[in-house]
Amino acid sequence: MKLASFAFTILALFHTPLATFAQAPSLDAEDIKIAEQLRDEALKSSKGYAIVESLTTEVGPRMAGTPGDAAAVKWGEAKLKELGFDKVWKEPVTFPTWKRGVETAEVISPYPQPLVITALGFSIGTAAEGLTAEIKAYETLEDLKNAPDNDAKGKIVFIKYKMKKARDGSGYGPAVSARGSGAVEAAKKGAVGILIRSIGTDSHRMAHTGMMRYADDVVRIPAAALSAPDADLLENMLKRGKPVEVKMTLGARDGQEYTSYNVIGEITGSEKPEEYVLIGGHLDSWDLGTGALDDGAGVAITTAAAELIARLPQRPKRSIRVIMWANEEQGLVGAKAYAEAHKNDLNNIITGAESDFGAGKIWRIDSRVKADALPVAKKIAEIMEPLGISYGNNRAGGGPDLIPLRQLGVSVFSLRQDGTDYFDYHHTPDDTLDKIDKAALDQNTAAYVVLAYLSAQMDGDFGTDIE
Ligand code: ZN
Ligand code: ZN
Repeated sequence: MKLASFAFTILALFHTPLATFAQAPSLDAEDIKIAEQLRDEALKSSKGYAIVESLTTEVGPRMAGTPGDAAAVKWGEAKLKELGFDKVWKEPVTFPTWKRGVETAEVISPYPQPLVITALGFSIGTAAEGLTAEIKAYETLEDLKNAPDNDAKGKIVFIKYKMKKARDGSGYGPAVSARGSGAVEAAKKGAVGILIRSIGTDSHRMAHTGMMRYADDVVRIPAAALSAPDADLLENMLKRGKPVEVKMTLGARDGQEYTSYNVIGEITGSEKPEEYVLIGGHLDSWDLGTGALDDGAGVAITTAAAELIARLPQRPKRSIRVIMWANEEQGLVGAKAYAEAHKNDLNNIITGAESDFGAGKIWRIDSRVKADALPVAKKIAEIMEPLGISYGNNRAGGGPDLIPLRQLGVSVFSLRQDGTDYFDYHHTPDDTLDKIDKAALDQNTAAYVVLAYLSAQMDGDFGTDIE
């Protein structure tokens, strides 16, 4: 080996690893001790419960664009100030709105009786006298798509698919497409309306609402969800082989454009205030319940976690931002607005996590960090072990409102909750405070406080431009 090439090899040997070592993120032993204290403090704080109790009692339903939405924004600003956040502000988010109106249905023949339904978000209404037509049933959205042209001509399509219960909510994905695009697919087959079995896992006589969409080139037909027992009832009638005729009346209509706000509270960092850890939940809810689980709990858990850090004698090195996201339900509108407004400032977001899966205990933490930050992510998971949480993988989603930022390469974490019962209540009148267990909520706060504090304190970062 020539001397020059030998020297180059030595240089290369030293240069690359040294540069890597210099940047490898790490945690300080003292910070870990404080994180453990914060964790244990959170378990007896009950602060999260007080916050969600306040939101559901003093505001209640807060569908995007309603007076409840405006009241929630005021509540959020006041709450963050009351809890001692250093800065509280709001950023505007503008969107189209929708109004529910009346929603009734009944079987006209062969066995007349009432049905419980709810309109899907952004459905058009029926004529005032209602829409009466024969039911044409399909097992799944896929079956409807594969049906011949005009298969449902002049009929009300009924999709029977039953969502499956699962701790990780994995039954939701396969079910929810019927809600989102059922109306478009039904109209393509000539249908005049659509009823889906509610996207839920309960057997209560309540229907689950949620967003649906039309396509520009397909005729718009009214869309609603049936309660699970009413879907069963309709199936039993259909089994008897006679045509089943249903009348549905929806008073739904589009409203005016509206401006709401992402409400933001910051605990300002002492060393790198411009860099921040982003946690939060969405402030809007559907109109049927009081939005305790979806997503008052997420707002409460993350606000309570940040507030615990604010009570420390010293501010963390980096800032912690709690975002109470605007209008998640009708299309991640607040999340998209935030990503757009902050797209030139993404390097300052150390990581993000949204709590939006109810109030069940967290059982797993997933990360989405650059390779050399994985040991820190796993160390954070280790601090959560006494909470019954274990490390999952490095493919975290981060929660719905983190999707736009994640797609721009921002690091995210998912603190995955037990969602076994979540879809019993999701988007129904039964999403109320009594479904929240205080101890489970504290466990959530404990996990978020560990994640937020250690991310704010770590040396180095989780990376940017993460795929
Ligand atoms: Zn939600
Ligand atoms: Zn929701």
